[in-house]
Amino acid sequence: MARRLSRLAVIPVTELAGVGPKAADGLAEMGIETVLDLVTHYPRRYVDRTQQARIRDLTVGAEAMVLGTVRKVEVRKTRSGRTIVQIDVFDGSAYLRCTFFNQPWRARQVPVGTEVVLFGKLELYRERRQMSNPVVDLVGDRTGRIVPIYPQSEKAGLTTWDLGRLVAEALARAGELADPLPARFRDELDVAGRTWAFAEIHAPESMGASVAARKRLAFDELLRLQVALVLRKRALERDATGIRHRVGGPLVERFHAGLPFALTGAQQRANAAIAADLAGPHPMHRLLQGDVGAGKTVVALTALLTAVEGGYQGALMAPTEVLAEQHFLGVRALVDGLEVADDATLTGDRPLRVDILTNRTTATERERLRTGLLDGRVDVLVGTHALLTEGVAFRRLGVVVIDEQHRFGVEQRAALRGKGDDPDVLVMTATPIPRTAAMLVYGDLDLTVLDELPPGRTPVTTVWARTPMEEEGAWTVVREQVGAGRQAYVVCPLVEDSEKIQARAATAELERLSAERLAGLRLGLLHGQLPAKEKEAVMAAFRRGEVDVLVATTVIEVGVDVANATVMVIEDADRFGIAQLHQLRGRVGRGADASWCYLLSESATPEVEERLGAMVRTTDGFELAEVDLDLRGEGAILGTRQKGRSDLKLASLRRDKQLVAEARRVAFALVDDDPTLALHPILTDELTLLVDDAEAEFLFKS
Ligand code: ADP
Ligand code: MG
Repeated sequence: MARRLSRLAVIPVTELAGVGPKAADGLAEMGIETVLDLVTHYPRRYVDRTQQARIRDLTVGAEAMVLGTVRKVEVRKTRSGRTIVQIDVFDGSAYLRCTFFNQPWRARQVPVGTEVVLFGKLELYRERRQMSNPVVDLVGDRTGRIVPIYPQSEKAGLTTWDLGRLVAEALARAGELADPLPARFRDELDVAGRTWAFAEIHAPESMGASVAARKRLAFDELLRLQVALVLRKRALERDATGIRHRVGGPLVERFHAGLPFALTGAQQRANAAIAADLAGPHPMHRLLQGDVGAGKTVVALTALLTAVEGGYQGALMAPTEVLAEQHFLGVRALVDGLEVADDATLTGDRPLRVDILTNRTTATERERLRTGLLDGRVDVLVGTHALLTEGVAFRRLGVVVIDEQHRFGVEQRAALRGKGDDPDVLVMTATPIPRTAAMLVYGDLDLTVLDELPPGRTPVTTVWARTPMEEEGAWTVVREQVGAGRQAYVVCPLVEDSEKIQARAATAELERLSAERLAGLRLGLLHGQLPAKEKEAVMAAFRRGEVDVLVATTVIEVGVDVANATVMVIEDADRFGIAQLHQLRGRVGRGADASWCYLLSESATPEVEERLGAMVRTTDGFELAEVDLDLRGEGAILGTRQKGRSDLKLASLRRDKQLVAEARRVAFALVDDDPTLALHPILTDELTLLVDDAEAEFLFKS
């Protein structure tokens, strides 16, 4: 019978003939303990031995492979006791020096006269062309034309050949591997068989074969993950223990009627989808995506107020204190004047109560909150992770909104949900995230996209000011706009990840600007270190138009909302990521007037060109999200926690967009045909590699 992957996960590598105690240590250092770890330790790249270069033709900085004979070997010790082995290799065209650090055994591996294949990057060291720590292949050692190069191996005292040998032994002993993918999908997707894929990814016949092998195994990783997510989604939908909220009541109606604008079509559709979820018997698990300025807050608040209306409480959780405070201010402004029935005293209506809880909340205030939460007087609680702490208990938590920017994991979402009796959950992202990333990180949620901006917005003109003269242009526009009665923001350089240092930099910048470029204008200062009262005061002054230019740190990233502001100047723009720049730019262009965003940066690395170039080219957050993914890769987008959880060793959001979508489609087809996957025991078995027992029980309970 074909062997299952989960079997390989319980066989220690020490069972392999080639693994003695020393090799076992080396493998353990690389995180390889089981045969499964070993065979899924994939080559980082391949060297095609037919693509050889002559030493004389090598160019500095380029990677190349050369074949030659060792003519000289020298072993030295540095003063700090490190061993350096130097070999000179000749290939008929020129000599090449190779230097190996801390690898004394190299002297024995390649004595004078040995024929070697070297793979490495040519560098210039003290005027001499050389390679440091190249990969060394002994000619005759191997017959394959394509040589796999394994990550980390040499550091752990194992050569890439050692690993290749061990993998070959492991695969030979494993024999035929069970294939979880039904044949019809294999044909339809045109992917290779699994046994073949494992053999070829480690020892490919050709570069083409390695690509096909990678595709198959990457697909498998994605399929496992998608099946787990889709099972989870379906299990949540079956879960009939949610609250049936009463929707369409007078409080929400009054809230909408009191807004100074009409809801967009997209907002109405989102509200309708959410209302249907809230009214239904199953807890809601929905992701709300929308571009900056699309009006997510109103939608989120509609959900929270629906809960409040029925005598429940709402919670809004943000990833940082600053964001929580911004949300708090924003929400409080929006619900200003709304009243709710006072259940506690039955003496009529009282003002709706919104509170905030962060790590900065004082003990006295916390105590007051605790009571308010328990007797139900706190209707909506805004806060950070602090909401998850043990002392926080709600009387009747009905709706939870999580504004996350991909910072909360599934576990934390679950923890917040646990604060109530299966409350409805709405997850919101501050800026769009790429479609493929959404499928991976939020694949267990329903998706609503606010695909329409409120009417009357004029796109922001974005200028990348790269020279002092162009920068001068930015300040000129600021002065002109202020002269015309408009306002501006200046975002100070991101110095370090310390709010204290940020604050100091912002203060200095304010002084510099008021003495020089913006002399005579009324400047205000906003940063995270200011006491809440002062922050509110300066924001209020800015809103009233008593401050012309707000000099700020990224505190203003979210929530700040002044339609009269028409210029955003971002200093050292290259220090910010795309999502942050887009979010900052979203602070202007909120009214009907023309507005500008100046990105100040003299940096000109290719990466900065791409990033700032994209900002200039488009204001579409969904498009920018894709650029961001291409530039930064999934690690940055998903955060390490989610990446670790997802066990993706080969698959990459960046390279495999198509494959992610296909895996998701196949996962839906499989699960919806066969909700407990009874007909797919191999696949079910592989899920155990990904989810723990408790989760598995949840996924498969019908
Ligand atoms: P985001 O989706 O970025 O969180 P916000 O919820 O902060 O967007 O809303 C952006 C701005 O648009 C706010 O000033 C909000 O009051 C305003 N807004 C929201 N919905 C509408 C609408 N339907 N018409 C006009 N303005 C709206
Ligand atoms: Mg917002």
